[in-house]
Amino acid sequence: MTTDPQAAITGEPLVLEARAAVAGYGGKTILHQLDLAIRPGEIYALLGANGAGKTTTLSLFLGFVAPSAGQVRVNGADPAAQPAEARRHLAYIPENVALYEHLTARENVAYLLDLAGQRESNAAIGAALANGGLDPAAHDRRVAGFSKGMRQKVAIALAAMRRVPALLLDEPTSGLDPQATVEFNRLLAQLRAQGTGILMVTHDLLSAADVADRIGFLDGGRLREEVAASGAERFDVRALHRRYGGQAT
Ligand code: ATP
Repeated sequence: MTTDPQAAITGEPLVLEARAAVAGYGGKTILHQLDLAIRPGEIYALLGANGAGKTTTLSLFLGFVAPSAGQVRVNGADPAAQPAEARRHLAYIPENVALYEHLTARENVAYLLDLAGQRESNAAIGAALANGGLDPAAHDRRVAGFSKGMRQKVAIALAAMRRVPALLLDEPTSGLDPQATVEFNRLLAQLRAQGTGILMVTHDLLSAADVADRIGFLDGGRLREEVAASGAERFDVRALHRRYGGQAT
């Protein structure tokens, strides 16, 4: 293991990196020799059937699961050996964003920033919420009663204010209507423009093809194929759907 927490495994500037990572639960291997590398300002969508190992991959980067072989880094930090250091560099937006229900959107962001040791003015938080697409009328409303899309906007505003290099997303568009999905993808593109590297796990091939720079297909804990966006059409969604539709969507 490297003694320099900031040293990437390969020396490339990568925000999320797994090299030949093997991981599982109770002696059962789920991820086999997983190689993933996400650069600053890149959106990577990981697709796969139920049980393919998508959430386990996120857990590796979050330090909840330690690899039994191989290496994992978050902005150069090893999440198994230095979980606090690794988490300082990332934001995680789970499928259902957990917020303090009795606090307003603005209070949630202020409180969660405070927990991360960051103080911001009310005005700065308001600007981030507005930039995250949350209607100003909702900034000072309690989040109990917020829709999934509104909660995600609060989480995105928080991630943007923390200026983390890496963002992990679990099924961000499941349960969102098409308009909210488009809006959400616009927010991700904004974070990408700020240089954030984003790993999202999803079943939503269409939405992934709209926003991702690369799509990886995980099957039985093995990365079967990676496809990069190219040209005006970005991805041949019909061909990908034919190849992976039965398992990835
Ligand atoms: P889904 O799309 O259903 O969320 P996934 O691709 O995210 O699936 P994982 O949740 O990573 O898949 O699960 C991969 C495998 O690991 C599954 O067989 C699952 O049963 C198993 N697994 C997940 N979490 C645990 C755990 N905490 N203990 C034991 N086995 C687990």
